[in-house]
Amino acid sequence: MLSLFLTISRLDNAIEKKILQWELEIGKDFTESFINRIDKILNKYSLPNPKEILENPPSKYKWKNMLKKAINIYWSNIWKEECLIKTTIKYLTIQENPTENPHNIWKAARNNQNDIRKAEFKSRLITGTYMLQTTKAKFSKNQISGICELCTKAEEDIKHFLLDCESLESVRLKQMNKLLSLTELKGGGDKANYKEEDVLQIIMDCSKLSTTSLSHLKANDLIEIEKQSQNFCHKMHKKRTKMQTR
Ligand SMILES: [Zn+2]
Repeated sequence: MLSLFLTISRLDNAIEKKILQWELEIGKDFTESFINRIDKILNKYSLPNPKEILENPPSKYKWKNMLKKAINIYWSNIWKEECLIKTTIKYLTIQENPTENPHNIWKAARNNQNDIRKAEFKSRLITGTYMLQTTKAKFSKNQISGICELCTKAEEDIKHFLLDCESLESVRLKQMNKLLSLTELKGGGDKANYKEEDVLQIIMDCSKLSTTSLSHLKANDLIEIEKQSQNFCHKMHKKRTKMQTR
């Protein structure tokens, strides 16, 4: 729709451009008019208003760049706001340029159903849309208990699920060893001795530690870790589901 608008705005003396200018003049009376819909989109992305563009249409190249930049800024801001609201999302690394550079969650997935399923599951986990017991409690305004149904010993939040629940310990141990072995220095070195919060961060999104605890690793190593973390999370989820349906 925006590219159609730009094309028309560049057609000097064309009847289509005159119609748009006319629509603009009669203004807000026709909320569903083409120009009003364009106005809403441009406004949403903090781009110049339709009048400015019609009077002074940018070149196609300049327009493409403007659009790309505006959309990236828009989504970065949305993510930053989301992070303040949601608690699990604090583990997610915010991408400066999400449309051009996909998150490691997607880089780790090959183009097959199995990988994509795991990546989708991981996205749910990191965005806080996976239904843990505390999530259910929150949505039901505490009509439903937040206590873990597997061990019944503590509230089931993301940390309990991934690190603490003893009912999932057998799966966790095996997967955790594989995962943490990837984070060690190549060619030996001390076995990584991470804090609990760091382990949780490695599982959720290790790229957030790329400038601190994991600064010795390369971009590809981080993708490998992400891949293993997806196996980890998915195996934990399968075990959890199996225990719940028993
Ligand atoms: Zn538990």
